[in-house]
Amino acid sequence: MDIEDVRSDLSEVLFTEKQITDRIAEMARDIERDYPKGDVLLVGVLKGAVILMADLARELKFHAHIDFMAVSSYGASTQSSGVVKINKDLDTEVAGKNVLLIEDIMDSGLTLSWLVNNMMARGAASVEVCAMFRKPEAVKIPVEVKYVGFDIPPAFVVGYGLDYAENYRNVRGLGVLSPHVYEGADPHA
Ligand code: 5GP
Repeated sequence: MDIEDVRSDLSEVLFTEKQITDRIAEMARDIERDYPKGDVLLVGVLKGAVILMADLARELKFHAHIDFMAVSSYGASTQSSGVVKINKDLDTEVAGKNVLLIEDIMDSGLTLSWLVNNMMARGAASVEVCAMFRKPEAVKIPVEVKYVGFDIPPAFVVGYGLDYAENYRNVRGLGVLSPHVYEGADPHA
């Protein structure tokens, strides 16, 4: 879907598809520079990272090896306990490999910090993070994000893989969800 198709659900359009695509090309050049032999496993976090993974992997000029994990955090996300459960694990052994975690968005940082530690505990040779969007004002646990697409304000955003009640993931571009859509509910819940 185009962002204009859901424009009435958004209070603001933050990024068009073109802006995101251009930024991904720059990020891909940085990743190629840092892994000149292409010896890196891209680990995407389902479901939000699917769109970024597809775009980033195809932009890379080496044979990108990819795998996916699905996780869920316990507790109200507004004050998350930081306890993360693996719903789908990797098919790939990560011991000895360079891992690049691919995330749609870094909000509190709880999920990513847990994932970084989890990859290290499995014996990864190195672990870095690539996040398309980051909310610096919402970060509770600082995680070094080596490749970040855009810093955004601490609003609830949808599009480019990010959903509200499973909708909007396939919207090209990113926008702030208008409060009238969730009518008082916590969109993070
Ligand atoms: P964190 O552990 O960094 O707080 O949360 C990361 C996850 O929360 C993301 O992968 C995403 O699924 C969800 N999330 C955080 N902020 C937003 C947002 O603004 N919009 C949507 N749709 N999901 C978000």
